[in-house]
Amino acid sequence: MPLLRQNNRLKQHGIWNWSLPAWAGRFEDGRTYNACPSAGICAKTCYARNGTYRIPAVLARHEANLRHTLDDLNGWKAAMLDELDHPKFTGAWVRVHDSGDFHSAAYLLAWLDIARSTPETGFYCYTKELALFREHVEPDPPPNFRWVYSYGGTQDGDLDPERDRVADVFPDEQAIQDAGWHSQAESDLLAVLGPAPVGIPANHIPRFTRLQNGRRWSDWQADTDADRAHRRPRPGPDT
Ligand code: SF4
Repeated sequence: MPLLRQNNRLKQHGIWNWSLPAWAGRFEDGRTYNACPSAGICAKTCYARNGTYRIPAVLARHEANLRHTLDDLNGWKAAMLDELDHPKFTGAWVRVHDSGDFHSAAYLLAWLDIARSTPETGFYCYTKELALFREHVEPDPPPNFRWVYSYGGTQDGDLDPERDRVADVFPDEQAIQDAGWHSQAESDLLAVLGPAPVGIPANHIPRFTRLQNGRRWSDWQADTDADRAHRRPRPGPDT
């Protein structure tokens, strides 16, 4: 069973993708998981928690991928390197996670090793795991490994758009243009190769559109963080 696939959207640009289940769930053996530890409001409107991604066979494959990385990281890395050895990956791009994120430092380091071992293949990702990247990627990234930090996570407050390459989900293309950001709608690779900051038009899933309510994900997350801070009990005279 191949580890890397091509979905319709990415295939037209020759991009291969690696998928984990989006956000949290429970394996058949009863263990719980969270493949997106820093997901925030994004989990409420995540395209990968909808449609074909929820077809049982598809979700089962993504969960099997995650279990492989959790239960046998070295074996998984060897299998990925073996697959990437095929000539079709020379000059190709791999999107690391069209769903899911870097769920641990060890898993992120495994991907960095994979990228260093296959310099003729390009790797890219969106991620909300800012602290992991600050520590493990930013000091010495492999030249063939690109990333963009995406808003809508619990670490948004530590992003610096002046310094970081960032992406935000907008209600539509017009909102991206009005903000002076740069849409990646033409090709997903623009997220890491095109001008920044990067705008992503929201998907048109009606229940998600209602929840987003015309907001950018960054604003929605900031509102949520502010609400939480407001509700948090303040230390009183007896505490
Ligand atoms: S981090 Fe990405 S895949 Fe995970 S819930 Fe958020 S948008 Fe979905």
